[in-house]
Amino acid sequence: MTDLDQDGQSPADPLLHAFTPGMHGNPPELAELTRDDEVVPQVVIPVADVKTREFVEEWRNASYNCYSSGHKFCREVCPVMTETRNESWTPTAFHANVVAMERGELTIDDVAADYVNCTQCGACELRCPNTLYTGDFYRFRTRTVDVVKAARALAVDSGIHQEGYRSWNARTAERSHEPVLGDVPVGQDTVRDWADGLGIPVGGESILFVDCEAAFYRTSVPRAVAQVLQKAGYEFGLMGEQWCCGGPAAEMGYVDQARVFAEHNMASWRATGTKRILVLDPHDYISFTEDYPKYFGADFDLEVVLVVELFAEMIRDGRLVPDVAVDRAITYHDPCRLNKRKGIWKEPREVLRAIPGLRFEDVDRVTQWSYCSGAGGGLAVEKPELTAAISARRLDHAGRLDVDTLVSACPWSERPLTEAGDDVDIDVLDIHELLATSLGIEVGGTRGETGDRRLAQARTGAMGRVRRTKSARGSGGVGSDAAGSGSGHG
Ligand code: SF4
Ligand code: SF4
Repeated sequence: MTDLDQDGQSPADPLLHAFTPGMHGNPPELAELTRDDEVVPQVVIPVADVKTREFVEEWRNASYNCYSSGHKFCREVCPVMTETRNESWTPTAFHANVVAMERGELTIDDVAADYVNCTQCGACELRCPNTLYTGDFYRFRTRTVDVVKAARALAVDSGIHQEGYRSWNARTAERSHEPVLGDVPVGQDTVRDWADGLGIPVGGESILFVDCEAAFYRTSVPRAVAQVLQKAGYEFGLMGEQWCCGGPAAEMGYVDQARVFAEHNMASWRATGTKRILVLDPHDYISFTEDYPKYFGADFDLEVVLVVELFAEMIRDGRLVPDVAVDRAITYHDPCRLNKRKGIWKEPREVLRAIPGLRFEDVDRVTQWSYCSGAGGGLAVEKPELTAAISARRLDHAGRLDVDTLVSACPWSERPLTEAGDDVDIDVLDIHELLATSLGIEVGGTRGETGDRRLAQARTGAMGRVRRTKSARGSGGVGSDAAGSGSGHG
């Protein structure tokens, strides 16, 4: 509210008094603020804490824009909050901490561990009234994901480490690839093994970038993608020397490490004359479309193509004609980084609707705050039990649609979702694999230990588990036995 003096005049320095911009009756000087890029006048914090000051200066406006709304819209779509009901692990708290740091009431040491509890899914950003009511007009979006990333980076820069993050990043730095599985050899000499027998050259104008989970663990995914591209006559090669994209390191706050990976990959693309990167993983897509342009500016002049969008286009153009019926009742899992972060939800559905034989039951949450798998943003590294609980909740939603299969477009989501799917007898398949199957392609490769029981049953003749009734299904919980993926993505 505008605070007027007793005589009805406005105070000498209106910035000293709280007011509501745009309210009728505001004195004219409130419309003539010179520091119109500052929501609230800056509080001077001790110079000795230079890192915190720089952090606060950069993110204070984003955080002051959060008015800790009474309804806390963001909390009800936050997968972590939905599962834990912990007030310290909410978008609201993540913004309020920045304000408290500016006022010297908190240090990053006090709250660094709280910032682990975020999958960086972006649901809260879309649900926030700031985004809902001004986004269409001003292109404004609340920036919780960036605040979380920055807070984690401040922690690392200040020497505060979460033990899981620290060891995960140390192992990734050592191998140049994420430590996706204990027993799978992860390294430069095996990163292209998934492509054995497919006759794909190294280098070229278009390069297929294969994320670590798919390259070493779920190799059926890149094999499906590569063979679909070949069937469509699309020329592409493998990277000269592919390292981790660096996205998960950046998500956990290890920014310097992320840049080392990015610079290596850029140098490799330059060496092979690459102009276009084909991406099958939503996390890589975020790295290449958001992080790399920040690292390299105008020097990052490569085209980034999301494969599922390319496949939808090829189906539209008649270059791909799925004609092998797939007898499944499916629903689709929108990867957070495609739907909520990048607004890509139509093309995967176009692909699925082109596959004959499928009964497709869509979820009730599509274009806005779709359900999260719980595996993103490094949550599974520090809190696998929480990732498992969120994945179980996701599968519970799928089960209510009475489907036998959940289809995802993200290899990183597929491991925790698959583990949760085992508990409710729902298979988790990858959209690229499903498309390849409907094109008559024998995909090959590995899909991990768990997953497609219906396919396994067809191969071995052994019966799958009896399907649970809806009333017998639980929603899962933090105490679930299911193990998390241990991956940095999700
Ligand atoms: S982030 Fe948006 S929805 Fe959440 S408390 Fe802040 S203003 Fe409200
Ligand atoms: S990005 Fe997702 S997990 Fe993180 S605070 Fe927002 S809704 Fe919660």
